[in-house]
Amino acid sequence: ATLADTVRNDRPEDLAWQADKNHFIHPYTDFTTFEREGSQVISEASGVTVTDTDGRTYIDAIAGLWCINLGHGRTEIADAMGKQASRLAYFNTFGHSTNVPASLLAAKLAERAPGPLNHVFYSTGGSTANDTAVRLIHYYFNRLGKHAKKKIISRNDGYHGSTYFASALTGIHGVHLGFDRISQDIVHHVSAANLYRRPQGMDEAQFCDFLVDELQQRIHQLGAENVAAFIAEPVMGAGGVLVAPAGYHRRVAQICRENEILYIADEVVTGFGRLGHWFASEDRFGHVPDVIVSAKGISSGYCPLGATLFSDAIHDVIAVPQAPGGLLSHGFTYSGHPVSCAAALATIDIIERDNVLGHVREVGPYLQARLKELMRHEVVGDVRGDHLMAGIELVRDRAGRVNFAPELGAAHKVFTAARKRGVIVRPVGNVIVLSPPLVLGKADIDRIVDTLHEALAEVSPALLAG
Ligand code: PMP
Repeated sequence: ATLADTVRNDRPEDLAWQADKNHFIHPYTDFTTFEREGSQVISEASGVTVTDTDGRTYIDAIAGLWCINLGHGRTEIADAMGKQASRLAYFNTFGHSTNVPASLLAAKLAERAPGPLNHVFYSTGGSTANDTAVRLIHYYFNRLGKHAKKKIISRNDGYHGSTYFASALTGIHGVHLGFDRISQDIVHHVSAANLYRRPQGMDEAQFCDFLVDELQQRIHQLGAENVAAFIAEPVMGAGGVLVAPAGYHRRVAQICRENEILYIADEVVTGFGRLGHWFASEDRFGHVPDVIVSAKGISSGYCPLGATLFSDAIHDVIAVPQAPGGLLSHGFTYSGHPVSCAAALATIDIIERDNVLGHVREVGPYLQARLKELMRHEVVGDVRGDHLMAGIELVRDRAGRVNFAPELGAAHKVFTAARKRGVIVRPVGNVIVLSPPLVLGKADIDRIVDTLHEALAEVSPALLAG
């Protein structure tokens, strides 16, 4: 018998910390500190705040993990899920069966996605949605008889997930440490569109030319006839919130078109309002991708859901009658899960009824403007972002853009100092990341920024001395 067997009393919260420490292998966790500290047990949440089992309440400035876009404790979403679970919790969608929420959601997604992206394949999250994008693109080219078109060009510092293939697409060096990298014959990485760390002496336009040239050369090297797709986040998230130079996505999309390379926009974070639009590719960056990958905010994080949106042109090759016995043999038990799709339908209704996209377009620039004040702190090298995605990069030497040594855990120290003051941010490498619920108000933004000022003031002296 273990502790878990005893979690039957009136207050399971009291036992959760120990049960967790003994039995739960956490994702993306440093087990040196975990050994010592264990977990903070979050047990309740409402609006833009979360509360732990010690009764402390925090502003959730990361929307759970870039996902709880409409905020916590929305009973309308919970009720929609509950009703659907009572009525039909699950039946498969393989072959010819479907359910009401999955079908209605497919139509709603098609209406909101850019022009020809009218067809959705459902999965369980961002990683499985990216796997689906690549697997079905390979299938598409096979059906066209272009069997050599297999290579995928991704970017350094891009994050695309943790299933084995999505991790292969991921270009963040640190996340591969200690692991094996598969599919290196298929996945090739080009430079990140990291304006802050661009080669010395280049302005933004020259850096854009540099990135576009690099991609062109790589395609040439690999042979366009061997390259199936290019994948990119409109704004890189987990790689440190990197906003590409002006015109980058449009020019890259153009090169892809010229070479019959499909453009996959990984909008897992940027979709569903974070940048003030349903999808950022067309409305923020002026191009229509061939495939859009969505997850997280699609259900406002209330239930796992991934959706890969395909253009008519791809659909018309992969989802048409084949020789007898031919099946599109791809799918997940939970593709089109009724409860997840009900959560997504409720999410879309609320976004429209409450004009959440308009709200983001109003408060997003306010957040970005207020965050710029943090440049007042010597350890802040760069403040960047777009609407409700922001990154604050810490440096030891601002003029030389010199990073703090990773073992100093500079961003983690700011995270700890902010949490002590009631605000949860996310440290990634030397960057402090913010991705708050879309429904936060200006007063919440003030509280977040004021707290970051205090946290930076607290940790700066020791960081600079170290
Ligand atoms: N793509 C992007 C851009 C992401 O940020 C993430 C998750 N942070 C993923 C894919 C993977 O999604 P999931 O964790 O739901 O599999």
